[in-house]
Amino acid sequence: MGHILDDRMKQVSVAGANERTIDCNKASLAGSVSQRACVFCGSRVVLYPIVDALHVIHGPIGCAAYTWDIRGSLSSGPELHRLSYCTDLQEKDVIFGGEKKLYASIIELIDLHKPKAAFIYTTCIVGVIGDDVEQICRTIEKEKGIPIIPVQAPGFQGSKKDGYKVACEAIFTLVGTKSKPFTPAKSINILGDFNLAGELWILLEYYKKMGVYVNATITGDGRVDDICNAHNAALNVVQCSGSMNYLAKMMKDEYGIPSMRVSYFGIEDMSDALYDVARFFKDDDMMDKARELVKEEFTKLIPQLAWYKERLTGKKAAIYVGGAFKAISLVKALRLIGVQSVIVGSQTGTTEDYELIKQLCDEGTIIVDDSNPVELSHFVKEKQADIFIGGVKERPIAHKIGLGFCDHNHERKEPLAGYEGMLNFAKEIYATAMSPVWKFTKNP
Ligand code: SF4
Repeated sequence: MGHILDDRMKQVSVAGANERTIDCNKASLAGSVSQRACVFCGSRVVLYPIVDALHVIHGPIGCAAYTWDIRGSLSSGPELHRLSYCTDLQEKDVIFGGEKKLYASIIELIDLHKPKAAFIYTTCIVGVIGDDVEQICRTIEKEKGIPIIPVQAPGFQGSKKDGYKVACEAIFTLVGTKSKPFTPAKSINILGDFNLAGELWILLEYYKKMGVYVNATITGDGRVDDICNAHNAALNVVQCSGSMNYLAKMMKDEYGIPSMRVSYFGIEDMSDALYDVARFFKDDDMMDKARELVKEEFTKLIPQLAWYKERLTGKKAAIYVGGAFKAISLVKALRLIGVQSVIVGSQTGTTEDYELIKQLCDEGTIIVDDSNPVELSHFVKEKQADIFIGGVKERPIAHKIGLGFCDHNHERKEPLAGYEGMLNFAKEIYATAMSPVWKFTKNP
């Protein structure tokens, strides 16, 4: 345990070995080199998939480069979200202030792109010099007649999770500002799916087959007008435990919209997501359609997964992802194809999430909150994992120690959600874990 800093000991647990509740939901330990991103990054990843809005970063170019085109979120229409604009603050601006530069930039960009709304992000240095971004946004909003929303996200104010909250507050300023002429009674908003590799479109198809109207997708393939009308939906269906719970809570408090938490990863959780919606609407016909859909998908999928299970049984996986809810789905999905999860960790899990993981995992599984490269490398070697499942920052850890890596985060190019996503996941795990290339690398 020499690789774990003394003050982090309580953030690591072993399933079956102790009953201690994992210490989590707190600021990263200084000097521990956490895998967490900054507040600005957290807000940017959540708001990024609003495709018809302008996104302007008030800060140094490095902040913009860090988050440029940060997600593989696809759009069925405009692609304004993929352009990352920045005021590129220089030394002179830091000394004399960057307000004039920001004002001129926003005006020029609105005239150029005619966006439906604009999100103006403040980063670390603006938090230090104190430019009045809110005032500039209010002025331009009056001049141009579209919502100009300040996103106060200096990176140093906390972690990525605080950025999620900032993003939810920004989105909430739009909710309830417009109503469409008619919104069907059995309508939902999908929160927390970011349409990576087109995953949202798979879900839309499922809900359509069940007769559920999707009112707004927040924020995958998101549209400003749909978000403005989001208060007219009957239910918020929330994926990704960290990023959208706060928005769901605000919508419940303000508009009385109930919410449910779902996961679209793995066949059990995907099916539950559909059944839970049908159950909410107390609609037998909807439930029958959901059952029919699940049966049809299972009939196609189960024999194919059996092929992978036969070959992958005995392999061991390390999981380290942003939200713990996804980690839970991954443990179940891996079990379905014969892979044992030997390390399960997340950046932002809660006590309840980790308790659930502890119950779900086999004895001896290492469970870790807010880990770092040194710890993760040691855990992987200790548990002799065959594959690492994580995001962009975990990829080099895996590759440096000669281990297969599966990207289950922003950059994925194949959909991993839904039934077709489960098959893609099995294919990817198989192709990576069984690749002959590992014979030529040093075994961890
Ligand atoms: S930590 Fe600060 S400077 Fe770095 S990317 Fe985040 S906002 Fe920008």
